Amino acid sequence: MIPSSFEYHRPASVSEALQLLQQHGEEAKIMSGGHSLLPSLKLRLSEPGHLIDISRISDLNYIREEGGVIAIGACTTHNEIGKSALVQEKIPMISQAALAIGDVQVRNRGTLGGSIAHADPAADWPASILASEAEIVVNGANGARNIAASDFFTGIFMTALEENEIITEIRIPIPPANTHSAYLKFPQPASRFALVGCAVMITRSNGSVERARVAFTGVSPSAFRDNAVEEAITGQAVNADSIKAAADKAAEGVDIMSDHYASQDYRKHLAKVFAKRALTAAAN
Ligand SMILES: Cc1cc2nc3c(=O)[nH]c(=O)nc-3n(C[C@H](O)[C@H](O)[C@H](O)COP(=O)(O)OP(=O)(O)OC[C@H]3O[C@@H](n4cnc5c(N)ncnc54)[C@H](O)[C@@H]3O)c2cc1C
Repeated sequence: MIPSSFEYHRPASVSEALQLLQQHGEEAKIMSGGHSLLPSLKLRLSEPGHLIDISRISDLNYIREEGGVIAIGACTTHNEIGKSALVQEKIPMISQAALAIGDVQVRNRGTLGGSIAHADPAADWPASILASEAEIVVNGANGARNIAASDFFTGIFMTALEENEIITEIRIPIPPANTHSAYLKFPQPASRFALVGCAVMITRSNGSVERARVAFTGVSPSAFRDNAVEEAITGQAVNADSIKAAADKAAEGVDIMSDHYASQDYRKHLAKVFAKRALTAAAN
């Protein structure tokens, strides 16, 4: 349970962190909250020679409104996001996802950027990042680029991040008026990771659903948008029957995980139950 030895670096800026990444190449690893990285170092699943701790770069810690978008610095902790009055007011689902993570220690250290970079299939953030159609801003040797959430999560612990790139910001569009959202999960009882987590955002017009975004985490190796549920609820009046009909389409035709916590059948059942609950919570 003791990591192999490494050299510790604490850059003061993103450009300094990028220089260190360039300099040490494959030997280097970025650390934010350390709440996923340190356990893997202790288990020797990862043995970097250089640890680049970006958690105290103040330029990566903020939440602000910028012309229709909530911009969140990559090193902002789960707790700071969950408690933010701005986030609670504009996109409650994001606040709910943040406060559903682990326990208070984990939320005080773990960061949004670190969680999405890690892309654990049971992590809470990916569902609401997908449902809110966020953009992930990354910086590397060739400058900055923006990645749509729908292109970011590519597989189990895999993302569209290139070697030597750092996530610097997550940009979440403020949804239109008459939009309501919810994130609900069935937690693994010990770790609190999501056995199944469902994020829902619905916009209503004249009593029926004009636009729906529904995404799952925990169900399959990578978080995903569930187009079948979205299509089934769009155009419908929101009531118990339309919600049940849409939720019954959850997780159809996707690669469902199975492990000693939950079989495929049980996960699929939970996906339907949590789609129904999250749609109902958003509708209310
Ligand atoms: C006991 C426990 C319970 C937990 N429960 C939950 C839970 O219920 N739900 C949940 O979602 N998560 C849970 N977690 C995980 C927690 O949310 C982590 O904080 C998170 O997954 C990783 O964020 P971090 O900032 O700690 O990243 P780190 O551990 O520092 O890094 C994780 C990975 O991302 C890379 N990385 C970090 N930051 C960046 C960046 N800005 N750009 C590029 N790469 C980067 C690192 O190199 C590393 O590979 C739990 C963790 C623990 C220890």
